[in-house]
Amino acid sequence: MGKEKSLCQYQKDQMLTVEITDIGNDGEGIGKIDGYTLFIKDAVIGDKVRAKIMKAKKNYAYAHLEEVVEKSSYRQEAKCPIARQCGGCQLQNMTYERQLQFKQNKVRNNIVRLGGFDGEFVDSIMEPIIGMDEPWRYRNKAQYPIGRNRDGKIVAGYYAGRTHSIIPVDDCLIGVAENKEILDIVIAHMEKFGVAPYDEVSGKGLVRHVLVRKGFTSGQIMVCFVINYRGRKSGSAGVGGKSGLVEYIPGQQALCDALSGVTEMTSISVSINTEKTNVIMGLEIHTIWGKDTITDTLKGLQFEISPLSFYQVNPKQTDKLYGQAIEYAALTGSETVWDLYCGIGTITLSMAGSAGKVYGVEIIPEAIEDAKNNARNNGIKNAEFYCGKAEEVLPEFYERLSKEAESDGTTVGSGMSGEKDDNTKALHPDVIVVDPPRKGCDEKCLETMLKMSPSRIVYVSCDSATLARDLRILSDGGYELKKVRPCDMFPWSGHVETAVLLQRSDT
Ligand code: SAH
Repeated sequence: MGKEKSLCQYQKDQMLTVEITDIGNDGEGIGKIDGYTLFIKDAVIGDKVRAKIMKAKKNYAYAHLEEVVEKSSYRQEAKCPIARQCGGCQLQNMTYERQLQFKQNKVRNNIVRLGGFDGEFVDSIMEPIIGMDEPWRYRNKAQYPIGRNRDGKIVAGYYAGRTHSIIPVDDCLIGVAENKEILDIVIAHMEKFGVAPYDEVSGKGLVRHVLVRKGFTSGQIMVCFVINYRGRKSGSAGVGGKSGLVEYIPGQQALCDALSGVTEMTSISVSINTEKTNVIMGLEIHTIWGKDTITDTLKGLQFEISPLSFYQVNPKQTDKLYGQAIEYAALTGSETVWDLYCGIGTITLSMAGSAGKVYGVEIIPEAIEDAKNNARNNGIKNAEFYCGKAEEVLPEFYERLSKEAESDGTTVGSGMSGEKDDNTKALHPDVIVVDPPRKGCDEKCLETMLKMSPSRIVYVSCDSATLARDLRILSDGGYELKKVRPCDMFPWSGHVETAVLLQRSDT
């Protein structure tokens, strides 16, 4: 450390003026002085800024934006007054168009640099990013921590980036307008009935978070109070223990009456979380008003959403991204498809109608239960779901079935019984879709995918760095990169989703 410092001519608290010439991975501005790199949050490419060094390393430093000396043509006034403190959005100062360009380049550069693909080749297969026409109020889910401000007043808001102090948020502009209406009712109720917000330090107080979800096509709204409740509980979880049975929140009936006035209020519940933890939701859910779930429609299918269900948070863009994945899958009605990392089966089920048979694999048991229910509710009979790690379920399935096939000499279309025929097709499907979390696919999973040798692989990714790494493995395994399409699911954040089509080289 000492050595590093002595070599470095720049120090903490030093003020520098620098031109921002590049954009970092998370959307931060990058400037260079004599080869020394400065990462400056909230500085926009094209700005000239004065910045104060917060942390100096040998070759680079993190600096705090003090003043914009010359404004970039890509700079705009943040729409949200607390955008800089809140930590939820990183790019509100950059025009939406420039932001889309940044995300397109980020995907492209990762595939070139980390995936080792030729730049010109990648440019030739990349399709333009799918942006939003109206990049505000796109989130269907919000989770507000409830606490007190310095004056002791109850407030709802967000934790300031990487801290545990709550910044009051009147109206978050990426969330739905109903959030504010609901929070106003909740806070007024808490003040009136003396309901204490949870205090992280002492572990005392009742209300920890308020979760609001909205079905964008149905309009239905769900509110779930995450509470540090240690009293008596109603019978079974989630079966609609209507208000009156147990009062989880003082004045519960009055609270539900007030909230029921919000248009399309459909479900009010509590989630019990008494742990000292960062995890927001407690697993025990009791409905205190209305239904247990809300419904939403995606790709023409109905999905039931409970407080704990995973459901993509930007339904408009999800529809477009999955539409792209479906187009890449190019199904004609008879194909066999595996959907790995399937969640509640959104992609699996939206492909079922144009496939012969679809298989979904997902690690979370509740999500698989949801997927099965969603299949049933939509009358889908050609979907099968497996619960487990993709990197375990797929190899086990492959080993078991290829042994069986070997021992009785089954081949595709050999006139065997339907089940055997299905199994053979599942061993060598037409399409494999993957939609893994940020860490990407496990190597064992990729290896098995290659053995199963589908004609097409559709890779849906939320992290273009791990995507690039996995594309290299698939490409070396005999697949050709055909199309790449980024999609902006999270406007004003540095994140970008991507759909990729790969085709087996010999087809
Ligand atoms: N396509 C899905 C969501 C994909 S998000 C949808 O739209 O609903 C990634 C999913 O992968 C999550 O549901 C997560 O629980 C699951 N997951 C994470 N690791 C996994 C693994 N090793 N094997 C299978 N699923 C996994």
